[in-house]
Amino acid sequence: GDAWLLVEFGGDSTADANEQGRRLLDALERAGDKAQVGARLYQCGDWAIKEVWQIREGGCTHSKVPGEHPGWAGWEDTAVAPEKTGDYLRDFQRVVDEHGLRVASYFGHVGHGCLHTRLDFDFSTAEGVRNYRHFMEAAADLVTSYGGSLSGEHGDGHARAELLPKMFGPELVGAFREFKSVWDPDFKMNPGKVVDPDPLDAHLRMDPSYTSRPVKTEFAYPGDGGSFTNAAERCFGVGACRDQNAVMCPSYQVTLEEKHSTRGRARLLFEMMRTDSPLEDAFRNEEVKEALDLCLACKGCLHECPVRVDMATYKAEFLSHYYKGRVRPRQAYALGLIRWEAELAARAPRLANFLTHRQPFAALSKRAAGVAPQRQLPAFASRTFRQWFAGRSGLNGTGRARVLLWPDTFNDYFRPEVAIAATEVLESAGFHVVVPKGSLCCGRPLYDYGMLRLAKRLLHRVLEGLRDDIHAGTPVVALEPSCGAVFRNELVNMLPGNEDAKRLARQTHTLGEFLARHAERWHMPRLESKALVHFHCHQRATSDTDCDRSVLDRLGLDYEVLDTGCCGLAGSFGYEAGERYEVSIKAAERLLLPALRGASAHTLLMTDGFSCRTQIEHGSERSAMHLAQVLQMALQRGPAGPAIDPPERAYASEAGALASGRRP
Ligand code: SF4
Ligand code: SF4
Repeated sequence: GDAWLLVEFGGDSTADANEQGRRLLDALERAGDKAQVGARLYQCGDWAIKEVWQIREGGCTHSKVPGEHPGWAGWEDTAVAPEKTGDYLRDFQRVVDEHGLRVASYFGHVGHGCLHTRLDFDFSTAEGVRNYRHFMEAAADLVTSYGGSLSGEHGDGHARAELLPKMFGPELVGAFREFKSVWDPDFKMNPGKVVDPDPLDAHLRMDPSYTSRPVKTEFAYPGDGGSFTNAAERCFGVGACRDQNAVMCPSYQVTLEEKHSTRGRARLLFEMMRTDSPLEDAFRNEEVKEALDLCLACKGCLHECPVRVDMATYKAEFLSHYYKGRVRPRQAYALGLIRWEAELAARAPRLANFLTHRQPFAALSKRAAGVAPQRQLPAFASRTFRQWFAGRSGLNGTGRARVLLWPDTFNDYFRPEVAIAATEVLESAGFHVVVPKGSLCCGRPLYDYGMLRLAKRLLHRVLEGLRDDIHAGTPVVALEPSCGAVFRNELVNMLPGNEDAKRLARQTHTLGEFLARHAERWHMPRLESKALVHFHCHQRATSDTDCDRSVLDRLGLDYEVLDTGCCGLAGSFGYEAGERYEVSIKAAERLLLPALRGASAHTLLMTDGFSCRTQIEHGSERSAMHLAQVLQMALQRGPAGPAIDPPERAYASEAGALASGRRP
């Protein structure tokens, strides 16, 4: 079969590393092998090295393909002498075929003869489990016949301990037993492994007796055969969610506790769904609730987990059942129903701001809402975006291509300057901007508290209100990434058979995506500034951020996209008093805030997320700008931008100043 062999050369300099690579190519050429193996030399920078290694690591992390291959571990870590690898692999494939199994992928460290595999054992039938045992025994016989090892670099664990006598022989395993009995005479430590092991087919995670609880869910799980149980079974435990250098999983990165990782949560949900689960009360179980409590619903796992575990959705599902018929905590009403509160406040924004920002009312409001005392509540704008939009005179682009600008709660009631900037940019790019008639909301804050019935009703209202534009194929620009994510992710998961829902998901764009795809011929203004760019987690998970990069390139910015993970605010999460506030701040202080504090005063800070901007204002002396505002800055000020530092001060709004506690 075909294979990729990756040979990495290091050296004191790039030239040194290249020279070593060239010497290998020459040697292959002399041996007449170069053409046959198709060897090529690539010179990689740091970024490309990381990408190439991700492909190699994908051999493991992508070995499970839901609905295609379960990627089971068990027989995954053998080693033989490197020169015997080819013969061993051919014989191993024969053993796999004889047992009617399929390998998801072969990967490993060929230079050391260590080979990893993932197989599709069938643990759902007694016959399948018997076949598993027979295969394990035959494979152990094979590797030991090559003088190899059952485990090349990892432990033998439960899966292979029973087979150790095949490799070491009974005398040596007897000596292990004797040695252990000196130190652990009652065999209390790690029982059932190595010495007197449990059978390799005992304690299987899935076995023929496995059945799951029936449950009527709010989400439809179209990618999991309509089953929450299947969704909870996605995780296969490779632990990419314990990476400290990824977006996934901020709560683990901060707490370093397994139960606060995606994997820990997925495992608990899987156990919860077993009919014979020791976790009592299923969707009312307090331990499961506790493990989900610190999930920021950032969707980092949806984007980065190789099997796309979508913990934000599972959490919302769990909470909707957990709170059924119960009163929710006060934060759920204060923060989850922000849309209705904002509508009310828009009638008297000065009074609302007085009550939420003047002492002692501010402290009382925060305490009543369960908001951390250290936080400033967002301030209401004196005029909403939709009021501004309705008050404009003139036709503003009628006759040009129509685009619907989605007035989300945050950019409508709190920071209308962002939506105003987007309107000006889109019109300058030659589009006719419209906004929906009436008051519509995607319901994003409701998901954090499992208020899914209400969320579904809002989605039906959105589809009704936008029907003509949906049918006309009008593109929708969602400025707030988390609201755009509702249309692309939650909407089709809630209403999978609804064609309008599918259309709206397809027609929704971030501003960056829209300009990259629909405004290629727009002569974009230039802005020759430096910028640090932070992408919102939902933006990374559900949109094409390459489009944003292409817009920044056209704009002429000298920018760097930060690899700093989740900002930690995550909607209402970081506003909540107590452990959530603590985790929120620790997540931001891990990488993001230190990176921003190191930026020069004339460097622009950019992020599209309302949460991210709020967290940056809370944790630094700076304010970040939405892409729409940066484009507007380029339109209004020209390539040099504003003549003051930091540049965002030229665009500070009254509401922004009130919310950040700083003077505009
Ligand atoms: S949740 Fe974590 S351990 Fe489970 S499959 Fe995804 S990355 Fe791997
Ligand atoms: S949604 Fe975010 S915080 Fe929650 S499990 Fe996934 S990566 Fe972790």
